Amino acid sequence: MTDYPHLLAPLDLGFTTLKNRVLMGSMHTGLEETRDWNRVAEFYAERARGEVALMVTGGIGPNLEGSVLPGAAMMTTAEDVKNHAIVTGRVHDAGGKIAMQILHAGRYAYGPKCVAPSPIKSPISPFVPTELDEDGIEKQIGDIVNAARLAQEAGYDGVEIMGSEGYFLNQFIVTHTNTRTDRWGGSYENRIRLPIEVVRRVRQAVGTDFIIIYRLSMIDLIPNGSTFDEVVQLAKEIEKAGATIINTGIGWHEARVPTIATSVPRRAFAWVTQKLMGQVSIPLITSNRINTPEVAENVLAEGCADMVSMARPMLADAHFVRKAMEGAGAQIAPCIACNQACLDHTFSGKLTSCLVNPRACHETELVIEPAATQKTVAIVGAGPAGLSTAMTCAERGHKVTVFDKAAEIGGQLNMAKQIPGKEEFWGFVDWYRTMMDTLEIDVRLNTEVGPDDLESFDEVIIATGVSPRDPGIPGQDSTHVLTYIDVLRDQAEVGERVAVIGAGGIGFDVSEYLVHDGESPTENLPDWMTEWGVADPADHRGGLVPEGPKPEAPTRAVTLLQRKAEKHGKRLGKTTGWIHRASLKMKDVTFVGGVNYERIDEAGLHVSSGEGRENPTLIEADTIVMCAGQTPLRDLADALEAKGIVPHVIGGADVAAELDAKRAIEQGTRLAATL
Ligand code: FAD
Ligand code: NAP
Ligand code: SF4
Repeated sequence: MTDYPHLLAPLDLGFTTLKNRVLMGSMHTGLEETRDWNRVAEFYAERARGEVALMVTGGIGPNLEGSVLPGAAMMTTAEDVKNHAIVTGRVHDAGGKIAMQILHAGRYAYGPKCVAPSPIKSPISPFVPTELDEDGIEKQIGDIVNAARLAQEAGYDGVEIMGSEGYFLNQFIVTHTNTRTDRWGGSYENRIRLPIEVVRRVRQAVGTDFIIIYRLSMIDLIPNGSTFDEVVQLAKEIEKAGATIINTGIGWHEARVPTIATSVPRRAFAWVTQKLMGQVSIPLITSNRINTPEVAENVLAEGCADMVSMARPMLADAHFVRKAMEGAGAQIAPCIACNQACLDHTFSGKLTSCLVNPRACHETELVIEPAATQKTVAIVGAGPAGLSTAMTCAERGHKVTVFDKAAEIGGQLNMAKQIPGKEEFWGFVDWYRTMMDTLEIDVRLNTEVGPDDLESFDEVIIATGVSPRDPGIPGQDSTHVLTYIDVLRDQAEVGERVAVIGAGGIGFDVSEYLVHDGESPTENLPDWMTEWGVADPADHRGGLVPEGPKPEAPTRAVTLLQRKAEKHGKRLGKTTGWIHRASLKMKDVTFVGGVNYERIDEAGLHVSSGEGRENPTLIEADTIVMCAGQTPLRDLADALEAKGIVPHVIGGADVAAELDAKRAIEQGTRLAATL
């Protein structure tokens, strides 16, 4: 008997059966653009071996003008068919099914040749699109149909037609982007003509026994988005036009509401899909922030959808479904929704990977094989660097002992999990604990080791992390000056007016912690929706409350300072920095930049500006919290070297500048793969 009867139940589509209810949602990984089709194939085949029922590829362009970026993968030629056939063949050999997503980006296409229903620039693109005429629209339909036909030829089990997230088809649907007056604009019937025509013509071209998923925007989260009645009308027409399944799209890319970041509650939008259940007779897929088999099972058991889409969780663990089937759900590496190695990479032009699983998209290059000789390995430090090294060493057959002076494993992750909106870090540390037990790693807590204790090991790895940087501000020894460690780990008392020194990731997080009290909105969906101004699209067009976000009042008056004159949070994650900034702004946090720290006294923090140290100003504060960066903690590494033992030094102990868990984990895993 399984814990996940709904999740693991097959889904009969008539002409084919899906083996369970898990769809791997489309992700633009950048793999297709490497043109290394063996690598692309291995990425998907690994997930097929992990028992996911159906996968959707990253968005593939139907033509040049519709491709997301110049050089993005397309499906237009016989050569494309040949390359994609390598992928479909490998997936089928592994027992999987795969659909190709056809993505026409419309005005989101990054290039001057982009096209759209009307010449209205998107706030997230520098390009004004060209308005399509009748022939132009006909060409786009023809190109999409052609891509579907070629996908079928390449052996795909189906296609997903991207009609949400503010892309081309979605741009026709709403007046926000469609101001046409011909038969493709004006009334709602006219505005949905294009997606319906596309689905109808694709079905005509591919015949009956081929999956067509239509990704339908169920809540646009933009001004003048669709109402729910309109969503229902479109869904019914899409069913009639021949779609096999409808997948849920949540929010346009330009929406100012977070939809998949870690601070978004789990399954935050399953209720939107549920509203559509019963309105159409084809299966519905729900998505966004579903990242454990328990959450997925509950969503299905409650009748929110017929299937769940999980995309990033399949990066974190390719064997998600297999582990759920085997009753080993606790061993599933959790997607913490950080975006740090997936979406942030995509938007920086880098290949996608995963913070938790550096092998994601590197399956052919970062290979974990049994070690030729079993060694004894000592690892000092049970932060993410040490823990990931320990796991990979143990998987390879080494005998591993981990030492940490703290009472629990996790290192700084234990501070991260205190931050409202970062609750996923709890499960992340729990998973490491499970894996230490599963892999029979000897973990010795409350144990500070010296060089003599490490002499007998074949390999010694120092992963002791960092110390907070001393900013050397006169007066910083006063009792009302704290470090982020005092606040987050030791729960020191903090006054009502606070100056936070340093606006890096930790300064932002500490500010977030200080302005909240009680339950985090991430743990309470109605509160979170109020905070961000999200409503039922049946009540408000596009699912946005007209009055906008309504956050709880801040519990403290916080001033966040930095010496740089640049915008606060400029160096935070590409896809999440704006959320952190918006969140603190909503809580009236004052951003002060371009300062020199002069001194601290009972009244607060004295600062000046510019090289001439002009404009002396007092930031009145009851408490000052220092988040001024970090330096490597490598005393033990130095002591070992003095004894002639050369350890491997990783994570913060190696380089503290720009350290994050992503780098710590990747460095540890890659080292362990070579020992
Ligand atoms: P650490 O995590 O610092 O672990 C070092 C370990 O070594 C500790 O457990 C310590 O007790 C132990 N140790 C030290 N000396 C000894 C000794 N002599 N003997 C035995 N044990 C010893 N990163 C992200 O990527 N994303 C985030 O969202 C994020 N949020 C963060 C939020 C906060 C509030 C903080 C503080 C950090 C955050 N980070 C985040 C940073 C991330 O946690 C660190 O980059 C990461 O933990 C560094 O890993 P590490 O293993 O090198 O060191
Ligand atoms: P950080 O990002 O390097 O920020 C340090 C801050 O301290 C900067 O704002 C810097 O700004 C300031 N500073 C540096 N030297 C100073 C000095 N001598 N005196 C006063 N101020 C000084 O480091 P962090 O905030 O400590 O974070 C550590 C790492 O954890 C980061 O690399 C980050 O990636 C990671 N982290 C990530 C997240 C996330 O959400 N992804 C969250 C938390 C932490 P000025 O020099 O302008 O003053
Ligand atoms: Fe999930 Fe973060 Fe990995 Fe992306 S990088 S898949 S968000 S854990």
